[in-house]
Amino acid sequence: MSQSRKLYIKTYGCQMNVYDSERMAEALGGQGYTQTDTPDDADMIVLNTCHIREKAAEKVYSELGRFRQLKADKPDLKIGVAGCVAQAEGEEIMRRQPLVDLVVGPQSYHRLPALEARARAGEKALDTDFPEEAKFDDLPARPKATRGPTAFLTVQEGCDKFCAFCVVPYTRGAEVSRPAARVLDEARGLVERGVREITLLGQNVNAYHGHDGGLAGLVLDLSAIDGLERIRYTTSHPNDMDDALIAAHGEIGKLMPYLHLPVQAGSDRVLKAMNRKHTAESYLHLIERIRAARPDILLSGDFIVGFPGETEEDFQATLDLVAEVEYGQCYSFKYSPRPGTPAAEKAHVDEATKDDRLQRLQALLKSQQHAVQDRMVGREVGVLFEKAGREPGQMVGKSEYLHSVFVDAPNARVGDLVPVTVTASAPNSLAGRLRAAA
Ligand code: SAM
Ligand code: SF4
Repeated sequence: MSQSRKLYIKTYGCQMNVYDSERMAEALGGQGYTQTDTPDDADMIVLNTCHIREKAAEKVYSELGRFRQLKADKPDLKIGVAGCVAQAEGEEIMRRQPLVDLVVGPQSYHRLPALEARARAGEKALDTDFPEEAKFDDLPARPKATRGPTAFLTVQEGCDKFCAFCVVPYTRGAEVSRPAARVLDEARGLVERGVREITLLGQNVNAYHGHDGGLAGLVLDLSAIDGLERIRYTTSHPNDMDDALIAAHGEIGKLMPYLHLPVQAGSDRVLKAMNRKHTAESYLHLIERIRAARPDILLSGDFIVGFPGETEEDFQATLDLVAEVEYGQCYSFKYSPRPGTPAAEKAHVDEATKDDRLQRLQALLKSQQHAVQDRMVGREVGVLFEKAGREPGQMVGKSEYLHSVFVDAPNARVGDLVPVTVTASAPNSLAGRLRAAA
């Protein structure tokens, strides 16, 4: 019989890691683990790591070093490393940090209970395979307990695009899609547990091919689930926005008017060097088509400045593209080399230039974000309440456009989806009042 034990998971990086942590915690639930939010009383600590940012591995090693005293006080404490750093570093982690008992790559989470048992028996347990069996099918069934109103649901993993700067194809492997029937089952289960909004996840989610109709077909089937009110998906590659998916934005009411569509740069020369396989013009044309299908859609994106060889003129092309699109919200990064990726071998732009470009780009993006938010004032949006706000009687939730909206709603409950009139725009959120109270 399994003993009652405590599990502390710390999650870094993207939403896919958030989903993976949830599934890992559920998988270890079968071994008697319940989650705790502090490492101090844990019997097992798992760092679910991300490799996308600079010095990711070094940060993981320094975080692990902090558990030395805990492990000395509690020799039975097991320490695991999961995620993309686990995949990239493999055995090296145990060599450099002997505190670590378990290393598991993102494709092997379904083997976590067996790995945990080996670690408990005193072995060093390592699994960074890309196994043949489908990970999601072999994970234990999801629990039935009621949960919050929003959920992530991974439908696709890995990437075959090989952008010259990116580690994802190496850490997450080739593109794999989950069969639609499984995704639909999982979605129904989530809705039964109180979920009203599902965000479909994939490194390249719009390349999803687990449904004959692609991602658009899956969204359409999901939209037929009673009680599921909102569907989102992220992250998409511009080259995989097919006609059906663009049309879906105009036709499927439950598909939210928000799209994260990274372009990375505005110069065709840089886009080519990045191996993005699209041009600035093809991206702008795509945006035009998406806006024709859903005029109010809010666009978001990712940008990299200071990619090897980027000149001031190239950077200006990025600013021009941003000015033309008008984004609602974006992420922007200085290029940083990832060992093993083609761009890492190239001559780099100096740090001061990267800093300067990042600042200029972020100033423009911020002004666009504010302008878009300011235009929301006076409009009516639907807000799905996710939690209580800081003020008494206040609730906070997301609008269709993914803005956080604070609303005075003393009688509302988490999970309510209510019409709200936007009354004010703050730097990173909106305020609104219940329409009924107007
Ligand atoms: N699949 C998505 C796409 O095609 O854009 C995003 C994947 S990646 C996890 C998220 C973002 O991190 C990328 O869009 C890119 O802007 C940024 N990124 C990836 N590698 C980077 C690097 N070496 N340096 C700086 N930013 C990077
Ligand atoms: Fe990385 Fe996205 Fe390019 Fe794939 S498409 S290599 S995940 S940036």
